[in-house]
Amino acid sequence: MQYLSTRGYAASSDSSVSFSEILLGGLAPDGGLYLPKSYPQVTNEELNAWRSLSYAELAFEVLRKFATDIPEGDLKAITTKTYTAEVYKNARHDESAQAITPLRTLQEKNGTKLVLQALSNGPTLAFKDMAMQLLGNLFEYALAKNQAELNIFGATSGDTGSAAEYAMRGKQGIRVFMLSPHKKMSAFQTAQMFSLQDANIFNIAVEGVFDDCQDMVKAVSNDLEFKSHQKIGTVNSINWARVVAQVVYYFRGYLAATSSNEQKVSFTVPSGNFGNICAGHIARMMGLPIAQLVVATNENDVLDEFFRTGVYRVRKSAETYHTTSPSMDISKASNFERFVYDLLNGDTARVAALFKKVETEGGFDLSGKPGSDGDEFKKVAQFGFVSGKSVHADRLQTIRQVEQEFGITVDTHTADGIKVAREHLQANVPMIVLETALPAKFNETIQEALGRDAERPAGFENIESLPQRFEVMSADVTKMKAYIAQHTGL
Ligand SMILES: *Cc1c(COP(=O)(O)O)cnc(C)c1O
Repeated sequence: MQYLSTRGYAASSDSSVSFSEILLGGLAPDGGLYLPKSYPQVTNEELNAWRSLSYAELAFEVLRKFATDIPEGDLKAITTKTYTAEVYKNARHDESAQAITPLRTLQEKNGTKLVLQALSNGPTLAFKDMAMQLLGNLFEYALAKNQAELNIFGATSGDTGSAAEYAMRGKQGIRVFMLSPHKKMSAFQTAQMFSLQDANIFNIAVEGVFDDCQDMVKAVSNDLEFKSHQKIGTVNSINWARVVAQVVYYFRGYLAATSSNEQKVSFTVPSGNFGNICAGHIARMMGLPIAQLVVATNENDVLDEFFRTGVYRVRKSAETYHTTSPSMDISKASNFERFVYDLLNGDTARVAALFKKVETEGGFDLSGKPGSDGDEFKKVAQFGFVSGKSVHADRLQTIRQVEQEFGITVDTHTADGIKVAREHLQANVPMIVLETALPAKFNETIQEALGRDAERPAGFENIESLPQRFEVMSADVTKMKAYIAQHTGL
Protein backbone atom coordinates (compact mmCIF):
# COMPACT_ATOMS: atom_id res chain seq x y z
CA MET A 1 0.00 0.00 0.00
CA GLN A 2 1.48 3.29 -1.16
CA TYR A 3 0.47 6.76 -0.01
CA LEU A 4 0.26 10.19 -1.64
CA SER A 5 -0.54 13.71 -0.53
CA THR A 6 -3.92 15.26 -1.31
CA ARG A 7 -1.90 18.07 -2.96
CA GLY A 8 0.15 15.80 -5.20
CA TYR A 9 3.36 14.88 -3.35
CA ALA A 10 4.37 11.26 -4.16
CA ALA A 11 1.44 10.94 -6.59
CA SER A 12 3.51 9.64 -9.51
CA SER A 13 3.67 5.89 -9.92
CA ASP A 14 7.45 5.72 -9.46
CA SER A 15 7.44 7.50 -6.07
CA SER A 16 6.51 5.57 -2.97
CA VAL A 17 5.67 6.45 0.59
CA SER A 18 4.77 3.63 2.99
CA PHE A 19 2.59 3.41 6.09
CA SER A 20 5.64 3.33 8.38
CA GLU A 21 7.07 6.42 6.72
CA ILE A 22 3.99 8.51 7.48
CA LEU A 23 3.29 6.94 10.87
CA LEU A 24 5.31 9.40 12.93
CA GLY A 25 4.71 12.45 10.76
CA GLY A 26 1.97 14.98 10.20
CA LEU A 27 1.42 16.96 7.02
CA ALA A 28 3.01 15.93 3.73
CA PRO A 29 5.89 18.19 2.59
CA ASP A 30 3.53 20.09 0.26
CA GLY A 31 1.13 20.88 3.10
CA GLY A 32 -1.41 18.23 2.07
CA LEU A 33 -2.68 15.19 3.95
CA TYR A 34 -1.71 11.60 3.25
CA LEU A 35 -4.13 9.11 1.71
CA PRO A 36 -3.66 5.65 0.17
CA LYS A 37 -3.22 5.72 -3.60
CA SER A 38 -6.36 3.58 -3.77
CA TYR A 39 -8.70 2.29 -1.07
CA PRO A 40 -8.40 -1.42 -0.33
CA GLN A 41 -11.70 -3.22 -0.93
CA VAL A 42 -13.54 -5.63 1.31
CA THR A 43 -15.26 -8.64 -0.25
CA ASN A 44 -18.54 -10.19 0.76
CA GLU A 45 -16.68 -13.31 1.97
CA GLU A 46 -14.38 -11.22 4.14
CA LEU A 47 -17.29 -9.36 5.70
CA ASN A 48 -18.95 -12.67 6.51
CA ALA A 49 -15.79 -14.06 8.03
CA TRP A 50 -15.32 -10.89 10.08
CA ARG A 51 -18.71 -11.26 11.77
CA SER A 52 -17.35 -13.69 14.33
CA LEU A 53 -14.06 -11.93 15.11
CA SER A 54 -13.12 -10.21 18.35
CA TYR A 55 -12.48 -6.47 18.14
CA ALA A 56 -8.70 -7.02 18.25
CA GLU A 57 -8.87 -9.60 15.44
CA LEU A 58 -11.05 -7.30 13.35
CA ALA A 59 -8.61 -4.42 13.93
CA PHE A 60 -5.81 -6.63 12.65
CA GLU A 61 -7.78 -7.57 9.50
CA VAL A 62 -8.59 -3.93 8.68
CA LEU A 63 -5.16 -2.54 9.51
CA ARG A 64 -3.20 -5.14 7.57
CA LYS A 65 -4.80 -3.75 4.40
CA PHE A 66 -3.23 -0.36 5.11
CA ALA A 67 -0.03 -1.11 7.05
CA THR A 68 1.35 -3.54 4.51
CA ASP A 69 4.97 -2.81 5.44
CA ILE A 70 4.59 -3.96 9.06
CA PRO A 71 5.17 -7.73 9.36
CA GLU A 72 1.80 -9.40 10.08
CA GLY A 73 2.99 -11.11 13.26
CA ASP A 74 4.10 -7.76 14.67
CA LEU A 75 0.86 -6.03 13.70
CA LYS A 76 -1.17 -8.82 15.26
CA ALA A 77 0.78 -8.52 18.51
CA ILE A 78 0.13 -4.76 18.55
CA THR A 79 -3.63 -5.00 17.95
CA THR A 80 -3.95 -7.86 20.46
CA LYS A 81 -2.19 -5.80 23.11
CA THR A 82 -4.25 -2.66 22.36
CA TYR A 83 -7.86 -3.79 22.19
CA THR A 84 -8.36 -5.61 25.48
CA ALA A 85 -11.17 -5.53 28.02
CA GLU A 86 -8.49 -4.32 30.48
CA VAL A 87 -7.82 -1.13 28.45
CA TYR A 88 -11.48 -0.50 27.54
CA LYS A 89 -12.85 -1.35 30.95
CA ASN A 90 -15.08 1.65 31.57
CA ALA A 91 -18.12 0.16 29.89
CA ARG A 92 -21.37 0.90 31.70
CA HIS A 93 -22.27 -1.88 34.13
CA ASP A 94 -24.80 -3.35 31.71
CA GLU A 95 -22.46 -3.43 28.76
CA SER A 96 -19.77 -5.91 27.94
CA ALA A 97 -16.23 -4.57 28.10
CA GLN A 98 -15.24 -7.56 26.00
CA ALA A 99 -17.10 -6.03 23.06
CA ILE A 100 -14.85 -2.91 23.29
CA THR A 101 -17.47 -0.80 21.43
CA PRO A 102 -20.81 -2.28 22.57
CA LEU A 103 -24.06 -1.37 20.80
CA ARG A 104 -27.27 -0.51 22.58
CA THR A 105 -30.64 0.01 20.91
CA LEU A 106 -32.36 3.15 22.15
CA GLN A 107 -35.53 3.13 20.13
CA GLU A 108 -37.43 1.16 17.47
CA LYS A 109 -40.37 2.91 15.88
CA ASN A 110 -42.16 2.64 12.49
CA GLY A 111 -39.38 0.52 11.05
CA THR A 112 -36.66 2.95 12.16
CA LYS A 113 -34.07 2.06 14.73
CA LEU A 114 -31.80 4.31 16.79
CA VAL A 115 -28.67 2.63 18.17
CA LEU A 116 -25.80 3.93 20.31
CA GLN A 117 -22.26 2.60 19.76
CA ALA A 118 -20.07 3.27 22.80
CA LEU A 119 -16.58 4.43 21.85
CA SER A 120 -15.74 5.94 25.20
CA ASN A 121 -14.80 2.97 27.36
CA GLY A 122 -11.07 3.67 27.22
CA PRO A 123 -8.86 5.22 29.91
CA THR A 124 -9.86 8.86 29.28
CA LEU A 125 -13.58 8.18 28.69
CA ALA A 126 -13.63 9.63 25.17
CA PHE A 127 -13.46 8.11 21.70
CA LYS A 128 -9.96 9.45 21.02
CA ASP A 129 -8.64 6.51 23.07
CA MET A 130 -9.82 4.16 20.30
CA ALA A 131 -7.08 5.37 17.97
CA MET A 132 -4.58 6.88 20.38
CA GLN A 133 -4.03 3.65 22.35
CA LEU A 134 -3.08 1.93 19.10
CA LEU A 135 -0.86 4.84 18.12
CA GLY A 136 1.06 4.57 21.41
CA ASN A 137 1.87 0.93 20.71
CA LEU A 138 2.65 1.55 17.01
CA PHE A 139 4.98 4.43 17.93
CA GLU A 140 6.83 2.39 20.56
CA TYR A 141 7.23 -0.45 18.07
CA ALA A 142 8.49 1.78 15.22
CA LEU A 143 10.88 3.73 17.45
CA ALA A 144 12.37 0.57 18.95
CA LYS A 145 12.93 -0.85 15.47
CA ASN A 146 14.90 2.23 14.40
CA GLN A 147 16.48 2.83 17.81
CA ALA A 148 14.97 6.29 17.66
CA GLU A 149 13.19 8.54 20.10
CA LEU A 150 10.34 11.00 19.79
CA ASN A 151 9.26 14.00 21.82
CA ILE A 152 5.60 14.75 21.33
CA PHE A 153 4.82 18.42 21.78
CA GLY A 154 1.25 19.67 21.67
CA ALA A 155 -1.43 21.89 23.11
CA THR A 156 -4.78 20.79 24.46
CA SER A 157 -7.95 22.21 25.88
CA GLY A 158 -9.02 18.76 27.05
CA ASP A 159 -9.65 15.49 25.24
CA THR A 160 -6.75 15.17 22.80
CA GLY A 161 -4.03 15.91 25.34
CA SER A 162 -5.26 13.45 27.90
CA ALA A 163 -5.83 10.71 25.30
CA ALA A 164 -2.25 11.25 24.06
CA GLU A 165 -0.79 11.14 27.57
CA TYR A 166 -2.64 7.96 28.53
CA ALA A 167 -1.52 6.33 25.28
CA MET A 168 2.13 7.32 25.62
CA ARG A 169 2.68 7.01 29.39
CA GLY A 170 5.54 4.72 30.24
CA LYS A 171 6.37 4.07 26.58
CA GLN A 172 10.03 3.52 25.69
CA GLY A 173 11.61 6.23 23.54
CA ILE A 174 8.70 8.66 23.89
CA ARG A 175 8.21 11.81 25.97
CA VAL A 176 5.10 13.99 25.94
CA PHE A 177 5.22 17.75 26.52
CA MET A 178 1.63 18.95 26.71
CA LEU A 179 0.60 22.58 27.09
CA SER A 180 -2.78 23.52 28.53
CA PRO A 181 -4.23 26.86 29.58
CA HIS A 182 -3.62 27.30 33.34
CA LYS A 183 -6.83 26.93 35.37
CA LYS A 184 -9.04 26.90 32.25
CA MET A 185 -9.82 23.18 31.92
CA SER A 186 -12.52 21.49 33.97
CA ALA A 187 -11.42 20.09 37.34
CA PHE A 188 -12.02 16.57 36.04
CA GLN A 189 -9.95 17.02 32.87
CA THR A 190 -7.16 18.75 34.79
CA ALA A 191 -7.06 15.92 37.31
CA GLN A 192 -7.02 13.30 34.57
CA MET A 193 -3.90 14.78 33.02
CA PHE A 194 -2.04 16.20 35.99
CA SER A 195 -2.41 13.15 38.21
CA LEU A 196 -0.20 11.10 35.86
CA GLN A 197 3.07 10.43 37.65
CA ASP A 198 4.92 8.82 34.73
CA ALA A 199 8.42 10.22 34.25
CA ASN A 200 7.94 10.62 30.46
CA ILE A 201 4.86 12.87 30.78
CA PHE A 202 5.33 16.63 31.19
CA ASN A 203 2.27 18.79 31.84
CA ILE A 204 2.86 22.50 31.34
CA ALA A 205 0.12 24.87 32.50
CA VAL A 206 0.53 28.06 30.49
CA GLU A 207 -0.57 31.37 31.97
CA GLY A 208 -2.91 32.30 29.14
CA VAL A 209 -5.71 30.87 27.00
CA PHE A 210 -5.69 27.91 24.62
CA ASP A 211 -4.67 30.11 21.67
CA ASP A 212 -1.53 31.16 23.56
CA CYS A 213 -0.66 27.48 23.99
CA GLN A 214 -1.21 26.82 20.31
CA ASP A 215 0.91 29.84 19.35
CA MET A 216 3.76 28.44 21.43
CA VAL A 217 3.49 25.07 19.68
CA LYS A 218 3.54 26.82 16.30
CA ALA A 219 6.54 28.97 17.25
CA VAL A 220 8.54 25.95 18.40
CA SER A 221 7.51 23.91 15.34
CA ASN A 222 8.54 26.72 13.00
CA ASP A 223 12.08 26.58 14.41
CA LEU A 224 13.05 23.68 12.16
CA GLU A 225 16.53 23.29 13.58
CA PHE A 226 15.26 23.04 17.16
CA LYS A 227 12.47 20.74 16.05
CA SER A 228 14.79 18.31 14.32
CA HIS A 229 17.50 18.42 17.00
CA GLN A 230 14.95 17.78 19.76
CA LYS A 231 13.12 15.14 17.67
CA ILE A 232 9.80 16.93 18.09
CA GLY A 233 6.63 15.37 16.68
CA THR A 234 2.87 15.71 17.10
CA VAL A 235 -0.15 13.45 17.40
CA ASN A 236 -2.86 15.71 16.01
CA SER A 237 -6.01 14.51 14.34
CA ILE A 238 -4.59 14.54 10.80
CA ASN A 239 -2.26 11.65 11.67
CA TRP A 240 -3.11 8.93 9.17
CA ALA A 241 -2.73 6.04 11.62
CA ARG A 242 -5.28 7.67 13.90
CA VAL A 243 -7.78 7.95 11.07
CA VAL A 244 -7.29 4.37 9.96
CA ALA A 245 -7.59 2.99 13.50
CA GLN A 246 -11.02 4.61 13.60
CA VAL A 247 -12.13 2.77 10.44
CA VAL A 248 -12.28 -0.43 12.51
CA TYR A 249 -15.24 0.55 14.69
CA TYR A 250 -17.40 1.40 11.67
CA PHE A 251 -16.93 -2.21 10.53
CA ARG A 252 -17.60 -3.40 14.05
CA GLY A 253 -20.76 -1.28 14.36
CA TYR A 254 -22.07 -2.48 11.01
CA LEU A 255 -21.39 -6.15 11.74
CA ALA A 256 -22.96 -5.94 15.20
CA ALA A 257 -26.11 -4.22 13.92
CA THR A 258 -26.78 -6.53 10.96
CA SER A 259 -26.99 -10.25 10.25
CA SER A 260 -26.48 -10.16 6.49
CA ASN A 261 -24.42 -8.04 4.10
CA GLU A 262 -27.57 -7.20 2.16
CA GLN A 263 -28.49 -4.83 4.96
CA LYS A 264 -27.33 -1.23 5.24
CA VAL A 265 -26.81 0.99 8.27
CA SER A 266 -26.23 4.73 8.70
CA PHE A 267 -23.90 6.48 11.13
CA THR A 268 -24.29 9.82 12.86
CA VAL A 269 -21.03 11.31 14.09
CA PRO A 270 -20.58 14.26 16.50
CA SER A 271 -17.96 16.11 14.47
CA GLY A 272 -15.28 18.73 14.88
CA ASN A 273 -12.10 18.21 12.89
CA PHE A 274 -13.76 15.65 10.60
CA GLY A 275 -11.35 12.93 11.76
CA ASN A 276 -13.94 10.51 13.09
CA ILE A 277 -16.38 10.75 10.21
CA CYS A 278 -13.53 10.71 7.68
CA ALA A 279 -12.88 7.17 8.91
CA GLY A 280 -16.55 6.36 8.21
CA HIS A 281 -16.12 7.73 4.70
CA ILE A 282 -13.09 5.49 4.19
CA ALA A 283 -14.98 2.43 5.47
CA ARG A 284 -17.72 3.23 2.94
CA MET A 285 -15.18 3.65 0.14
CA MET A 286 -13.80 0.20 1.07
CA GLY A 287 -17.25 -1.23 0.36
CA LEU A 288 -18.91 -1.29 3.79
CA PRO A 289 -22.69 -1.02 3.14
CA ILE A 290 -23.27 2.39 4.74
CA ALA A 291 -26.34 4.33 3.58
CA GLN A 292 -25.83 7.76 5.16
CA LEU A 293 -22.97 9.43 6.97
CA VAL A 294 -24.59 12.13 9.07
CA VAL A 295 -22.31 14.97 10.19
CA ALA A 296 -23.56 16.48 13.46
CA THR A 297 -22.09 19.83 14.50
CA ASN A 298 -22.74 22.16 17.42
CA GLU A 299 -22.98 25.97 17.15
CA ASN A 300 -19.64 25.83 15.31
CA ASP A 301 -21.35 24.77 12.11
CA VAL A 302 -18.68 25.15 9.43
CA LEU A 303 -19.23 21.53 8.32
CA ASP A 304 -23.03 21.69 8.44
CA GLU A 305 -22.85 24.78 6.25
CA PHE A 306 -20.75 22.95 3.66
CA PHE A 307 -22.96 19.88 3.57
CA ARG A 308 -26.07 22.04 3.18
CA THR A 309 -24.74 24.58 0.66
CA GLY A 310 -21.40 23.55 -0.84
CA VAL A 311 -19.71 26.60 0.67
CA TYR A 312 -16.72 25.95 2.94
CA ARG A 313 -16.03 29.04 5.01
CA VAL A 314 -13.61 28.78 7.94
CA ARG A 315 -14.40 30.88 10.99
CA LYS A 316 -12.33 33.58 12.65
CA SER A 317 -11.49 33.29 16.36
CA ALA A 318 -14.23 35.78 17.25
CA GLU A 319 -16.76 33.62 15.38
CA THR A 320 -15.66 30.40 17.09
CA TYR A 321 -17.92 29.79 20.07
CA HIS A 322 -17.06 28.15 23.38
CA THR A 323 -19.89 25.66 23.80
CA THR A 324 -20.94 22.91 26.17
CA SER A 325 -19.73 20.32 23.63
CA PRO A 326 -16.22 21.82 23.64
CA SER A 327 -14.45 19.04 21.72
CA MET A 328 -16.42 20.11 18.64
CA ASP A 329 -15.49 23.80 18.95
CA ILE A 330 -13.48 24.23 15.78
CA SER A 331 -12.98 27.06 13.31
CA LYS A 332 -11.86 24.80 10.46
CA ALA A 333 -11.99 21.04 10.03
CA SER A 334 -8.44 19.79 9.64
CA ASN A 335 -9.29 16.42 8.03
CA PHE A 336 -11.85 17.80 5.58
CA GLU A 337 -9.24 18.02 2.80
CA ARG A 338 -9.19 14.20 2.65
CA PHE A 339 -12.86 14.11 1.66
CA VAL A 340 -12.48 16.99 -0.78
CA TYR A 341 -9.74 15.01 -2.55
CA ASP A 342 -12.22 12.16 -3.14
CA LEU A 343 -15.03 14.56 -4.03
CA LEU A 344 -12.76 16.08 -6.69
CA ASN A 345 -11.89 12.61 -7.93
CA GLY A 346 -8.23 12.88 -6.94
CA ASP A 347 -7.51 16.13 -8.78
CA THR A 348 -4.54 17.16 -6.60
CA ALA A 349 -3.93 20.43 -8.44
CA ARG A 350 -7.45 21.60 -7.69
CA VAL A 351 -7.29 20.40 -4.07
CA ALA A 352 -4.05 22.37 -3.64
CA ALA A 353 -5.64 25.48 -5.19
CA LEU A 354 -8.79 25.25 -3.04
CA PHE A 355 -6.85 24.91 0.21
CA LYS A 356 -4.50 27.73 -0.78
CA LYS A 357 -7.67 29.74 -1.16
CA VAL A 358 -8.71 28.74 2.36
CA GLU A 359 -5.49 30.38 3.57
CA THR A 360 -5.77 33.53 1.49
CA GLU A 361 -9.54 34.08 1.31
CA GLY A 362 -10.90 31.96 4.16
CA GLY A 363 -12.74 29.36 2.11
CA PHE A 364 -14.10 28.10 -1.20
CA ASP A 365 -17.39 27.44 -2.91
CA LEU A 366 -18.31 24.22 -4.73
CA SER A 367 -22.01 25.08 -5.04
CA GLY A 368 -21.87 25.45 -8.83
CA LYS A 369 -23.33 28.95 -8.65
CA PRO A 370 -21.89 31.62 -11.00
CA GLY A 371 -18.40 32.58 -9.84
CA SER A 372 -17.99 29.50 -7.62
CA ASP A 373 -14.90 27.26 -7.61
CA GLY A 374 -16.72 24.21 -8.97
CA ASP A 375 -19.99 22.30 -8.93
CA GLU A 376 -18.99 19.15 -7.03
CA PHE A 377 -21.48 19.85 -4.27
CA LYS A 378 -24.02 18.00 -6.38
CA LYS A 379 -21.91 14.84 -5.96
CA VAL A 380 -21.88 14.99 -2.15
CA ALA A 381 -25.01 12.83 -1.85
CA GLN A 382 -23.30 10.01 -3.78
CA PHE A 383 -20.88 9.77 -0.86
CA GLY A 384 -23.78 9.41 1.58
CA PHE A 385 -23.11 12.67 3.40
CA VAL A 386 -25.85 14.73 5.04
CA SER A 387 -25.64 16.99 8.07
CA GLY A 388 -27.35 18.84 10.88
CA LYS A 389 -26.67 21.14 13.77
CA SER A 390 -27.45 21.15 17.49
CA VAL A 391 -27.22 24.01 20.00
CA HIS A 392 -27.05 24.24 23.80
CA ALA A 393 -30.84 24.11 24.29
CA ASP A 394 -31.03 21.00 22.04
CA ARG A 395 -28.32 19.32 24.10
CA LEU A 396 -30.13 19.93 27.38
CA GLN A 397 -33.41 18.71 25.95
CA THR A 398 -31.86 15.63 24.39
CA ILE A 399 -29.99 14.69 27.59
CA ARG A 400 -33.25 14.98 29.57
CA GLN A 401 -35.34 13.13 27.06
CA VAL A 402 -32.87 10.25 26.54
CA GLU A 403 -32.64 9.89 30.32
CA GLN A 404 -36.43 9.86 30.75
CA GLU A 405 -37.26 7.57 27.85
CA PHE A 406 -34.35 5.16 27.82
CA GLY A 407 -32.86 5.53 31.31
CA ILE A 408 -29.42 6.38 30.06
CA THR A 409 -27.32 9.49 30.51
CA VAL A 410 -25.44 10.68 27.45
CA ASP A 411 -22.74 13.32 27.28
CA THR A 412 -23.13 16.64 25.50
CA HIS A 413 -21.36 15.62 22.25
CA THR A 414 -23.36 12.43 21.95
CA ALA A 415 -26.52 14.47 22.61
CA ASP A 416 -25.68 16.63 19.59
CA GLY A 417 -25.39 13.42 17.59
CA ILE A 418 -28.72 12.01 18.77
CA LYS A 419 -30.52 15.28 18.06
CA VAL A 420 -29.26 15.36 14.47
CA ALA A 421 -29.63 11.58 13.92
CA ARG A 422 -33.37 11.84 14.59
CA GLU A 423 -33.70 14.23 11.66
CA HIS A 424 -32.29 11.60 9.29
CA LEU A 425 -33.91 8.30 10.34
CA GLN A 426 -34.92 5.99 7.49
CA ALA A 427 -37.10 2.90 7.65
CA ASN A 428 -35.21 -0.41 7.65
CA VAL A 429 -31.81 1.26 8.01
CA PRO A 430 -30.52 1.17 11.60
CA MET A 431 -29.05 4.55 12.57
CA ILE A 432 -25.93 4.14 14.70
CA VAL A 433 -24.97 7.21 16.72
CA LEU A 434 -21.36 7.17 17.86
CA GLU A 435 -21.08 7.90 21.58
CA THR A 436 -17.90 9.98 21.74
CA ALA A 437 -17.57 10.60 25.50
CA LEU A 438 -19.00 9.53 28.84
CA PRO A 439 -21.12 12.12 30.67
CA ALA A 440 -18.78 12.24 33.70
CA LYS A 441 -16.38 14.36 31.62
CA PHE A 442 -18.94 17.13 31.16
CA ASN A 443 -20.63 17.11 34.53
CA GLU A 444 -21.46 20.84 34.59
CA THR A 445 -23.94 20.42 31.74
CA ILE A 446 -25.34 17.15 33.12
CA GLN A 447 -26.02 19.12 36.32
CA GLU A 448 -27.77 21.80 34.31
CA ALA A 449 -29.88 19.30 32.39
CA LEU A 450 -30.72 16.78 35.10
CA GLY A 451 -30.08 18.55 38.39
CA ARG A 452 -27.73 15.82 39.56
CA ASP A 453 -24.18 14.64 38.98
CA ALA A 454 -23.22 12.30 36.17
CA GLU A 455 -22.28 8.81 37.23
CA ARG A 456 -18.54 8.18 37.34
CA PRO A 457 -16.96 4.88 36.32
CA ALA A 458 -15.17 2.97 39.08
CA GLY A 459 -11.76 4.39 39.89
CA PHE A 460 -12.67 7.97 38.98
CA GLU A 461 -14.59 8.80 42.19
CA ASN A 462 -11.87 10.88 43.83
CA ILE A 463 -9.72 11.79 40.87
CA GLU A 464 -9.64 15.49 41.81
CA SER A 465 -7.96 14.72 45.14
CA LEU A 466 -5.04 12.75 43.69
CA PRO A 467 -1.62 14.42 43.84
CA GLN A 468 -0.94 16.49 40.71
CA ARG A 469 2.31 16.90 38.81
CA PHE A 470 2.62 19.95 36.53
CA GLU A 471 4.69 23.03 35.81
CA VAL A 472 3.24 26.55 35.55
CA MET A 473 4.93 28.66 32.87
CA SER A 474 4.37 32.06 31.30
CA ALA A 475 3.62 32.11 27.55
CA ASP A 476 7.34 32.43 26.76
CA VAL A 477 8.74 30.47 23.81
CA THR A 478 12.38 30.82 24.91
CA LYS A 479 11.58 29.36 28.33
CA MET A 480 9.59 26.58 26.70
CA LYS A 481 12.48 25.58 24.47
CA ALA A 482 14.88 25.59 27.40
CA TYR A 483 12.47 23.39 29.38
CA ILE A 484 12.23 20.86 26.55
CA ALA A 485 16.00 20.76 26.00
CA GLN A 486 16.63 20.32 29.72
CA HIS A 487 14.27 17.34 29.95
CA THR A 488 15.25 15.57 26.75
CA GLY A 489 18.95 16.02 27.42
CA LEU A 490 19.46 16.40 23.65
C1 LIG B 1 -12.60 15.03 19.40
C2 LIG B 1 -14.03 14.84 19.77
C3 LIG B 1 -15.07 15.01 18.83
C4 LIG B 1 -14.82 15.47 17.40
O1 LIG B 1 -14.17 14.49 16.64
P1 LIG B 1 -13.47 14.88 15.24
O2 LIG B 1 -12.70 13.70 14.86
O3 LIG B 1 -12.58 16.07 15.55
O4 LIG B 1 -14.53 15.23 14.28
C5 LIG B 1 -16.37 14.77 19.24
N1 LIG B 1 -16.66 14.41 20.52
C6 LIG B 1 -15.69 14.23 21.43
C7 LIG B 1 -16.08 13.85 22.83
C8 LIG B 1 -14.35 14.43 21.11
O5 LIG B 1 -13.39 14.27 22.03
